[in-house]
Amino acid sequence: MDFETIIGLEVHVQLNTKTKLFCSCKVGFGDAPNSNTCPVCLGLPGALPVPNKDAIKKACYLSQAINARLNRRSYFDRKNYFYPDLPSGYQISQLFTPIVEDGFIEVQSSGAKKIRIDRAHLESDAGKNIHDDNFSRVDLNRAGTPLLEIVSKPDMRSSDEAVEYLKKLHSIVSYINISDANMQEGSFRCDANVSIRPMGDDNLYTRVEIKNINSFRFIQKAIDLEVSRQKNAWENGEYETIVQETRGYDSVKNRTYSMRGKEESADYRYFPDPDLLVIEISDEFLSSLDSLPELADEKKERYLRDFGLNDYDASLISSDVACASYFDEMMKTKINPKNASSWLCVELGARLKKLELEYDKSPLKPSILADLVAKIEKKTISNKAAKDVLDLLMKEYIGVDRAIEKLGLAQVSDEASLVQIIDDILAKNQKELERFRSGETKLLGFFVGQVMKVSKGSADPIVVNKILKEKLN
Ligand code: ZN
Ligand code: MN
Repeated sequence: MDFETIIGLEVHVQLNTKTKLFCSCKVGFGDAPNSNTCPVCLGLPGALPVPNKDAIKKACYLSQAINARLNRRSYFDRKNYFYPDLPSGYQISQLFTPIVEDGFIEVQSSGAKKIRIDRAHLESDAGKNIHDDNFSRVDLNRAGTPLLEIVSKPDMRSSDEAVEYLKKLHSIVSYINISDANMQEGSFRCDANVSIRPMGDDNLYTRVEIKNINSFRFIQKAIDLEVSRQKNAWENGEYETIVQETRGYDSVKNRTYSMRGKEESADYRYFPDPDLLVIEISDEFLSSLDSLPELADEKKERYLRDFGLNDYDASLISSDVACASYFDEMMKTKINPKNASSWLCVELGARLKKLELEYDKSPLKPSILADLVAKIEKKTISNKAAKDVLDLLMKEYIGVDRAIEKLGLAQVSDEASLVQIIDDILAKNQKELERFRSGETKLLGFFVGQVMKVSKGSADPIVVNKILKEKLN
């Protein structure tokens, strides 16, 4: 039987505000446990929350970037449940009036398509339980950290589409700088709701939620696994074993496993938080906001139009905000955009990947890489030599000129010194010379290779070829 996959995604984005959502404790990662806490985020009785204006600002930016409606009046609700990392016994969230509603993001993987975003609401994060062998400990540094929970409609039909949507959303929150969006550190966390139905059937069947998946690759795998689990159950006549529940994804065993039955909102006894006033967003507040920066799609268009990059490179660069701003910096010089793109994405990209660094942590500044590209364009150094120069520049904070000098790689293109080298090589390789002259013309490559070797790659290959041809014929 043919099935259709139905996917909806919930993403918790940790906002990069300086302080928590309702108190002035620092938002940080990796600090000493329970060092960033106060009576408010410890949930002590009588402590009163005060909303963080900056978090509200960031929600406004999101509404603009995802084509959504900003609710000018919204309020906070208490979501009641007990858990050791939640000392107040409730999470402050927004059930009835999300601050952002009815947006969309466009994806391309199966033709241009809008993925609708139902809502994005502000809420505070819980702390962390840390389970050792004999003890469980609670760290409340994260308690009260501001989150935006962004909930899509069940509009995605494949794991590819889900991943594309997530990457797009990740790029948007990074571009508008409302979050570090670091998946490893949990500042961009994804839950996927997955169900299937026979092709052509309009009903929605049991959906299963997979919680807290922390990489794009794992999200794809987890969804694919869940879809095949549900299909198998349906085809084996055991679909009743698929129940609405929350499952986890084990990336080591590559399987999903049951965590708990799924709660409905009624289970949480939501009610408006009596400690907090309604948030009213005034015209003045809105007009005080910065306008949105250029986002990935506009950037890509500009790279195609103004720089003549191909679609692949333009997408690759624009999808990563750090890479794009690196490229924009390089393009403040007069180098060829295509050369800039290939040295950025291929050469620098590979070296950063080895060091597990993002573009904004590159030891090499954009102006230096641009200078290197300019030197290749001016034929001061060969393409091959430039790679060695780049290797050195990754380790030593010296300019391009000093690096070239240090490695002795200035391109030898003055003919006199090349003629000298070539004469030596021809003299040393008499046998090959005879073979060449008796018709084995493919030996030209051998001679070029010898010249490059002797000159340590610094010879200009075009000039070498020219001289060799003159000498040989
Ligand atoms: Zn606090
Ligand atoms: Mn939530």
